[in-house]
Amino acid sequence: MRLCDLSPAHIRAISPYQPGKPIAELAREMGLAESSIVKLASNENPLGFGDKARAAMAAALDDLARYPDGNGFELKQALCRRYGVAMDEIVLGNGSNDVLELAARAFLGPQTSAIYAQHAFAVYPLATQAVGARGVEVPARHFGHDLDAMLAAITPDTRVLFIANPNNPTGTFVPGPELEAFLVRVPDHVLVVLDEAYTEYLGEEQRYDAIAWLARFPNLLVCRTFSKAYGLAGLRVGYGLGHPAVIDLLNRVRQPFNVGSVALAAAAAALFDSDFLARSYEVNRAGMAQLTAGFARLGLEWIPSAGNFVTFRAGDGAGVNRRLLRQGVIVRPIAGYGMPEWLRVSIGLEAENARFLEALPQALG
Ligand SMILES: *Cc1c(COP(=O)(O)O)cnc(C)c1O
Repeated sequence: MRLCDLSPAHIRAISPYQPGKPIAELAREMGLAESSIVKLASNENPLGFGDKARAAMAAALDDLARYPDGNGFELKQALCRRYGVAMDEIVLGNGSNDVLELAARAFLGPQTSAIYAQHAFAVYPLATQAVGARGVEVPARHFGHDLDAMLAAITPDTRVLFIANPNNPTGTFVPGPELEAFLVRVPDHVLVVLDEAYTEYLGEEQRYDAIAWLARFPNLLVCRTFSKAYGLAGLRVGYGLGHPAVIDLLNRVRQPFNVGSVALAAAAAALFDSDFLARSYEVNRAGMAQLTAGFARLGLEWIPSAGNFVTFRAGDGAGVNRRLLRQGVIVRPIAGYGMPEWLRVSIGLEAENARFLEALPQALG
């Protein structure tokens, strides 16, 4: 259709995001029972979500006829209490994906560019392209962010620089002190979007406090989510923390009601469910040890990961993925990230990890 040819070239050039295969879809395709399928493809929390979030959601149902609070007062208050930030330093998003897009919409456009690393989260190039900005992909170092090269890639038209720490899908991690030294060197015409979707999974020795840096770096936006360690991926809620002037711009391009009321209530409650968070952390630690021990037994190479997933070298990634699917195991091919030989597997419950490891030798052929 001619109309579609008239869509701007930068829109037509976008290759769509490829999500993990839903359980119901594989069940239909293979004629398998849904209950027999193990999905370790989207870095979801295998424990589900906590009781506090469940209770808050149930209570919020009564008000669903009303629009949500477009300012998210209660969730922002909860974030203020939890992290010592001010209300005007917070923007809420329909998932942190939304916040990434708000940053792109507020700071990018034609004649500007954004920088991200090779093998970094796919939403960075997508958000950049969608607003007609130029994306600059900086080659990775050992699959992770090469901060010196990213600094060197900054030009006068650079407005946004994305960093995922840990990164998805590689799981690589930049230690806090290195990030801090990097931020000192980034010129102030560049917004650093520090995507900390997996920060709750960091080991004690890895933890650092990016929120404490906000006072020194007005060009820093810290993005976090309730989709991963809090187990609320289906609700779609995340947030960004930054300088009030930056947050103000992001709020101008956001939908007035971008986070639903059930999501707002659940997130506010989840924030203080430290027991659930601690259990999620422990399950992840144990599962990571279980999977990497399995890889070692099979002689497979993997990339050490600081997240709730691990990427391993399968050789023929597409083929191994196909043969895992036939056995009812869903993992994530990452050919779209320029890594066709690798597959990413999310950490599941012990029995799910075991199912995957049992299916793997046959899939490897
Ligand atoms: C999962 C993920 C997100 C965010 O997901 P939302 O569900 O939109 O909050 C953001 N960044 C990275 C690197 C992720 O892996």
